[in-house]
Amino acid sequence: MKDYQDIVDKAKRIVVLTGAGMSTESGIPDFRSAGGIWTEDSSRMEAMSRDYFERYPRLFWPKFKELFQMKMSGRFEPNEGHVYLAELEKEGKQVDIFTQNIDGLHKKAGSRHVYELHGSIQTAACPACGASYDLSHLLKHDVPQCTAVKTDSEICSTVLKTDVVLFGDIVQHFDTLYEKLSQADLLLVIGTSLEVAPARFVPEEASRIPGMKQILINLEPTYCDDLFDLVIHRKIGEFAKELSDKK
Ligand code: NAD
Repeated sequence: MKDYQDIVDKAKRIVVLTGAGMSTESGIPDFRSAGGIWTEDSSRMEAMSRDYFERYPRLFWPKFKELFQMKMSGRFEPNEGHVYLAELEKEGKQVDIFTQNIDGLHKKAGSRHVYELHGSIQTAACPACGASYDLSHLLKHDVPQCTAVKTDSEICSTVLKTDVVLFGDIVQHFDTLYEKLSQADLLLVIGTSLEVAPARFVPEEASRIPGMKQILINLEPTYCDDLFDLVIHRKIGEFAKELSDKK
C-alpha cells in the first residue's frame, strides 16, 4: 500500500487504462473470469461482430440487448474504484482515463477526461443517413430503426448500429492514448486481462518511455505482469476503499 501511494504521490500526469474488472464490483460481469459473459457461451462473440450485424441486423439487436442487459444499464452505479479515480483528478493531477468498458461508469463517477475505446452503449447511429439516437429510443423498440424523414418524405427505417465497437470495428481514441502516454509519468492499469488488442500493447509501449512508472491492479495475473513496477492482485473497489480509509 505504501509503495503504491509513494508512486502515485509523485505522479503529476497519469494515464489510466481500465477494463471489465473495473466494474465487476458494480455488478457487471467481466468477459473472461469464471462466470464472465464470454466464458458462458462463445457463440455470443460471433454475434457481436460487425460482420454479423451487417448480415443480420434484426437478429443482432435482441442478442445485443440480452448480452449487455441494456434495459437495466441505467441501474448500475460506480463503485469505490471509479470514485477513487475521480477523486484523484480533484486532487489536482491530470488523469486521463482510457476505458475498454462501455458502461459509462467513469463519467457517472465524475471523471472528466474519459476516452471510451470501445464506444458507448448509450447511443446508436443510422448506417444510412448518420442520424444519432440516445438510449431512450434504443430501449423503446426491440429492433431500433431510424425515424428520419428522407427527401422523398419516406421514413428512413434503416436498422440502427450501436455505438459500441463490435468485433471487426476500429477501436477509438488510440492515437490520443499514445499521445497522452508520451506526456505522462505514470500508467495505471486496472481490471483488464490485457488479452484484447490493442490495449494489450500499452504496457510494452509505456515501458519504452524514459521515467515512466507502471502499476497494475488486477485480480488475476496477466501475461505481462513483469513489465510493471508494482503489481497488486486485488479487487480495485476493496483496494480503493482501504486507500480512502487511510486518509
Ligand atoms: P476481461 O474480462 O478480459 O478481464 C477482466 C480482468 O479483470 C480479469 O483479469 C479479472 O481478473 C480482473 N478483475 C475482475 N474483477 C476485478 C476487480 N474487482 N478488481 C480488479 N480486477 C478485477 O476484460 P477486459 O480486459 O476489459 O477486455 C475484454 C473486453 O471486455 C473489453 O473489450 C470490454 O469492452 C469488455 N467488457 C466491458 C464491460 C463493461 O463495460 N463493464 C463488461 C464486460 C466486458
